[in-house]
Amino acid sequence: MLSAENRQIRLARRPVGELGPEDWEHVTEPAAAPGEGRFAGRTRFISLDPAMRGWLDDRPSYLPPVGLGEVMRAGSIVEVTESNHPGFAIGDLVVGMFGVQEHVISDGKGALRIDPATASPSTFLGALGMSGMTAYFGLLDVGALKEGETVVVSGAAGAVGTMVGQIAKAKGCRVVGIAGGAEKCALLTGELGFDAAIDYRAENVRKALRTQLPDGIDVYFDNVGGEILDAALACLAMRARVVVCGAISQYNATAVQGPSNYLSLLVRRARMEGFVVFDYAPRFAEAAREIGGWITDGRIKVLEHVVRGTVDDFPQTLQMLFRGGNTGKLVLELV
Ligand code: NAP
Repeated sequence: MLSAENRQIRLARRPVGELGPEDWEHVTEPAAAPGEGRFAGRTRFISLDPAMRGWLDDRPSYLPPVGLGEVMRAGSIVEVTESNHPGFAIGDLVVGMFGVQEHVISDGKGALRIDPATASPSTFLGALGMSGMTAYFGLLDVGALKEGETVVVSGAAGAVGTMVGQIAKAKGCRVVGIAGGAEKCALLTGELGFDAAIDYRAENVRKALRTQLPDGIDVYFDNVGGEILDAALACLAMRARVVVCGAISQYNATAVQGPSNYLSLLVRRARMEGFVVFDYAPRFAEAAREIGGWITDGRIKVLEHVVRGTVDDFPQTLQMLFRGGNTGKLVLELV
């Protein structure tokens, strides 16, 4: 049975620059019962994603903006509590875009039952979810990675970055990660097996890349944009591929800083290409099988940063992404 109330986080206003508490509305409404062909679920885990910042701006993008007064869009895992849907039974764990709220009603569209016997539920938001899919298709399809090549990834200690580096190692490549802080860098070269790490807060990234990789970068997987992108562009090998996955350093900016070293693409006969992971949905099962195999044989370590709290903790948990407060996939577990 559903509890009588549903706590939600809604968008109160369009933020300018960094997010603040005034951008959100904390609302309690009566919990609804599922109609015919629907199920009700209790939220267990909510995914925190840098892209959420972009979803709040009213400008054309790959998804419509979250509307003012709407429940904040988010991927989550819910446990089915009542069902009038033939595909979902009480107790099932289901992943979908259910939003930042304690209770959901779903018609099952875009919802996927997960098997908790194969991995812990939160893994389906990270390594076996969007972060893993993003790393896999960005690196192998957009980046067209080949064995023996040299890969550089920024945001390397994050959800996508940790997967990119480990997939590249599984594919027999040399990997350099760029991350903020000595602790994150030590994790990359220690537990995660990266060949080298650059602390962008303490080092000159361009100089460090030149020292580490005198023959240049074959694939640069960019999660952060800004100055780090420019440093990587200055160090490309011939026929390099620059994968534009994200640009977190620019998401709060009112004027986005574009790359000034882009002519390096011409000199190095290189390619720079963006992508949106949702376009690969028909191939997610293929990627999940291969990633699952690497997790099982120990080549990929799943790194998660789980914050335990309530939906009211969503706004400050989201901020962690923009302050480097997370290592691996950031998830809010509702307790
Ligand atoms: P994440 O890397 O787990 O978390 C964000 C990390 O970014 C922080 O921990 C922080 O690490 C770093 N960061 C924050 N501000 C920064 C700045 N100003 N300069 C440099 N680094 C900064 O997040 P994620 O979920 O894996 O996402 C990574 C990127 O992939 C994001 O850009 C996201 O938008 C993108 N993405 C794209 C797609 C797609 O379809 N194209 C899909 C999913 C994600 P440090 O401590 O190292 O600074």
